Amino acid sequence: MQLKDVKTPCYVIDEGALIHNLEILKRVERESGARILLAQKCFSGFDEYPLIAKYISGTTGSGLYEARLGYEEMARPFRKQNHVYAPAYKSEDIPELARICDHMVFNSAAQLEKHYNAVKRKTSIGVRINPQYRTQKDHPMYDPCAPGSRLGMKKEDLTPDVLAKIDGIHFHTMCEQRFDDLARTVRVVERDFGDILMRVKWLNMGGGQHITSEGYDVDGLIALIKHLRETYNIEVYLEPGEAVTIDAGILVSEVLDVVENRLRILIMDASAACHMPDVLEVPYTPTISENYAAPAAEQDIIYAGEAAEKKITYRLAGNTCLAGDVIGDYSFDTEKKPGDRLYFHDMAIYSMVKNNTFNGIPLPSIYAMDEKGDCRLLKEFGYEDFKTRLGSDKSQNA
Ligand SMILES: *Cc1c(COP(=O)(O)O)cnc(C)c1O
Repeated sequence: MQLKDVKTPCYVIDEGALIHNLEILKRVERESGARILLAQKCFSGFDEYPLIAKYISGTTGSGLYEARLGYEEMARPFRKQNHVYAPAYKSEDIPELARICDHMVFNSAAQLEKHYNAVKRKTSIGVRINPQYRTQKDHPMYDPCAPGSRLGMKKEDLTPDVLAKIDGIHFHTMCEQRFDDLARTVRVVERDFGDILMRVKWLNMGGGQHITSEGYDVDGLIALIKHLRETYNIEVYLEPGEAVTIDAGILVSEVLDVVENRLRILIMDASAACHMPDVLEVPYTPTISENYAAPAAEQDIIYAGEAAEKKITYRLAGNTCLAGDVIGDYSFDTEKKPGDRLYFHDMAIYSMVKNNTFNGIPLPSIYAMDEKGDCRLLKEFGYEDFKTRLGSDKSQNA
């Protein structure tokens, strides 16, 4: 099936783009000796785990469900690592987590103390630290070092009792950031936690590093990891989400109607609120194009312009009752009409995992597109996916 034949709305995972990212990450593993884990919070499209497993060392999860997914679809079939971190664990989840995860990271001394006996000798134990060093101020929502953060233990919380129980430390303080921010953070971690690095077996530097984006200093990253491994004799982990799937998926949507109120508005069969919530949450305006190709023949893609940049400006909006379900204002050289398709870029990350059926809006189907441009349907959703999340299995219609 070709891209023009997919049913909208749908996400299409671009395997050529995914491989491009994975090759960079594999090079980092090979040349630095670090191990890289997919942060499933960002992307949990497990149909691609066999492909991802060819390049990197495993998965990390934020609780029992992601840990199970990583175990079932990556760690067990491909003999990869499976790490987990949660701000707090429920006691009932601990036995299964200890069985399916090889590394468990705790967020407080109380959590470590509470669950220590149930997990010791079953898994390698670490704690998340909060270096209290901010490298970004624009989005406090995504800054675990912002004042009042619940994420990670401060230096003074790492008592001898805590240190006696742990094999490793973990920090995650970044979001979509460049290498210098990581380098500056590592300097602070070495200064404040250097004595601990000397005692532990591993350091996990979290996600938020845009390793696979244009212009990232990959060689700098490799040198930094080597420095850490050699100085402290530790294993180094990175757990990127975005860097694995950045620009590796699109959302394909069709125009349903065109209405006018001061400006022309396209009502799409996709929704910002339901299918790309980060557009409203971050917020940001996604890149859109009028066509899309694999392998991405960049020069052939016709991108929409910003408002007023090209001949005709439209506001793109979702098919929900939420007035603010607006994707953004864009301009095109040609008029748009019902049935026309538009391609929303970079929609593998934090979109499929966050979508919802608010307003009874259908979930997009999921396709994968291989390097030649052949598309295959992975999953379709229907009315039952909406209904079963909202109540008992009893119904008037039984
Ligand atoms: C979100 C998160 C990641 C992945 O972050 P990206 O920005 O997608 O790379 C990794 N580790 C932890 C603990 C996270 O919360």
